[in-house]
Amino acid sequence: MILEKTKVLKVSKSADTKEDLQNLYFAAEIIKKGGLVVFPTETVYGLGANALDEKAVRKIYEAKGRPQNNPLIIHLSKSDDIDLYCETGKIEGLDALKALMPAPLTVILPAKPVIPSVITAGLPNVAARVPMSAAARKLIELSGVPIAAPSANLSGKPSPTCAKHVLEDMDGRADVIIDGGDCEVGVESTIITLCEEVPTLLRPGGITFEKLCSILGEVHMSHAVLESLKPGEQVLSPGMMYRHYAPERPVELVKGNRMKCVDYINTRSSKEDCAVICYDEQAPLLKCKYVLTAGSEKDNQAYASKLFSMLRDTNSLDVSYIFAFLPVDTTGISLAIYNRLLRAAGFNVKTFDD
Ligand code: AMP
Ligand code: MG
Repeated sequence: MILEKTKVLKVSKSADTKEDLQNLYFAAEIIKKGGLVVFPTETVYGLGANALDEKAVRKIYEAKGRPQNNPLIIHLSKSDDIDLYCETGKIEGLDALKALMPAPLTVILPAKPVIPSVITAGLPNVAARVPMSAAARKLIELSGVPIAAPSANLSGKPSPTCAKHVLEDMDGRADVIIDGGDCEVGVESTIITLCEEVPTLLRPGGITFEKLCSILGEVHMSHAVLESLKPGEQVLSPGMMYRHYAPERPVELVKGNRMKCVDYINTRSSKEDCAVICYDEQAPLLKCKYVLTAGSEKDNQAYASKLFSMLRDTNSLDVSYIFAFLPVDTTGISLAIYNRLLRAAGFNVKTFDD
């Protein structure tokens, strides 16, 4: 039973009504039979398949147009299952991270032989996570297998955080889309590898760098989190090599002195039609054709949860250029916003000194 057309099924946040369970059971049957199911998580929507079925996993790469050398995260319904798929015997710090789960956190560990190499893109390690979303965990549990899932966007586009944006990219490519409403965190999971001498942050997200340091002691941050890579440079996480999260129009980021940022954008927008993504505090000062606000400077979680949705929404605006304000610092969730915006803009940043 693989469907010809994409079916959209609604599931509530608690994922526990009779209708929710019927829909999740239906989607789980599709997973078991080697099909593709888009499901909600607290971070972004995922495009899932049975992680132990090589043929099904290949369909994920095909549907997304994802490069074969960019490995996938396996999603589990409980943290104890990590031991089924990863070599966990001598890994320091893992128990402390497991205690955080379910969480917007992905841990990279040595893979057990049961994991097909199509998941790891041939690497010896596998990325594993236990999502907080009740719908996601119920789907995994009912499927009875780990679910491999990257974000449910076409490769390179912003990750979808609502069913409408999933449909833009995945209608006709996935068998089922589970519509579980908007994703709360809004940026993909934090990725940490425990396969290096010192635990190393590869991608910032909802579990912050500061939190990881407080739990594990010393944590390194991959330089690729905030810096562009040199041509041909090898990195621990292959996903960092690709342009990502990009709207259709060019994006320029601004940071530093607020009034200078505002003047710069207003001057540019007097000559061409522009959109700007900014905080509530800056919105009244900006004269762009479209001013998209993401919440207060005091609430970067709100900015994070709306970021991808706003980047996508710029595609339907009649503008030639997009500006976005970077957060004032890189602490907490701001590090994730900073990291995603840098990639969306291809590291095109204008800095204004005080
Ligand atoms: P996405 O699923 O679209 O959120 O992307 C998953 C990210 O996890 C990509 O940046 C991958 O490169 C990274 N990743 C997945 N598996 C591994 C692994 N075994 N080692 C290093 N990075 C990984
Ligand atoms: Mg992705």
